Amino acid sequence: MPKQEFPSPQKQIANEQLWFNTKKVILPSILLLTTNTINNFVISVMEERLEYRVYTYSAYLLKRFGKKVFRVGLSTGKTCPHRIENGGCVFCNPHTFTGEYQSKDLSIKDQYNDAIPRIKKACGDVQLLAYFQDETSTYGDIEFLKSKYNQALSHPEVIGLVVSTRADYIDEKVLKLLASYKVPVTIEIGLQSIHNRSLEFLNRCHTFQQTERAIKMCGNAGLTVGVHLIMGIPGETFDDMLQTVKWVSSDKYIKQVKFHNLVIYKNTKLAEMNNIPIYTIDEHIRNLGNLIPYLRGDIVVTRLFTSNIRRSQIAIGKYEGNKTKWMNYLRKYLYKHDLNQGDETDVKYDCRKFYK
Ligand code: SF4
Repeated sequence: MPKQEFPSPQKQIANEQLWFNTKKVILPSILLLTTNTINNFVISVMEERLEYRVYTYSAYLLKRFGKKVFRVGLSTGKTCPHRIENGGCVFCNPHTFTGEYQSKDLSIKDQYNDAIPRIKKACGDVQLLAYFQDETSTYGDIEFLKSKYNQALSHPEVIGLVVSTRADYIDEKVLKLLASYKVPVTIEIGLQSIHNRSLEFLNRCHTFQQTERAIKMCGNAGLTVGVHLIMGIPGETFDDMLQTVKWVSSDKYIKQVKFHNLVIYKNTKLAEMNNIPIYTIDEHIRNLGNLIPYLRGDIVVTRLFTSNIRRSQIAIGKYEGNKTKWMNYLRKYLYKHDLNQGDETDVKYDCRKFYK
């Protein structure tokens, strides 16, 4: 049997030192290096994503509900009273904003039967929010509204309600009704601009101060408040739009914002006016890119462009590309100029809350 050789005490010490160094210094260093490399890689990939810089609606929905959620567009069936009584807003063409799945003539059940199979086919097994989107969805007798909202919420897959309306059609009765539901309720209000001269131009027939009061009432009733803004109202400069965004950021009740680029549709009062300046998509993207840093970081951006632009209905202007391309341009613009939501406010947007 060969004689077993033991290392000398010096060699034993050297071996132990080597093992100690490997365990305590080299392995952790390799691990740290690998972790840093992975982190840097993830960050560099993330930096290019829109969600890295903007609090998008999809990121919010995922965080809020923990799963994929889709809004089903619904109609109460009522025509906007402002169009009946005052001729409506100068940009409004009802044939352009009625969503793909809404039909004023159908019952809520039939609107669901029409819409939900299509949504499931396109988006898979998603949960749903009932979205009363068109016209003025708080207009009508309170029992009528209650019946519509109740029918919408009776669907087993619907987990919340979103109602879009005007400031002058929000009252205590409708707020009490909306606040009584045990599911998340969001109310979207057409603010458009804080400048009364712009609201007059648009023929909104309400003032900024009325909207401010309505937002406060909705917030105090416990509803999630979202506002719609129009970018590029004729006569408004970038600074005017900036003042609107700054005001939105300063209002504690506002939790969501929808940006719309002004589109001039046929059969609108706007289309009849002469020499109306209109932003191209590129200009809108530049404006948005430079406004986003002034938007408080915890406000959800539920829309960045006027959705579903109906090209056949456009009176003036060209809209090359589609929403996916425009989002991509915006993403690149923000990345190139290192612009992030909330950079110029006290509340910075932190994407790490969504991508742990
Ligand atoms: S309030 Fe809305 S629905 Fe009514 S006229 Fe104005 S844009 Fe159209």
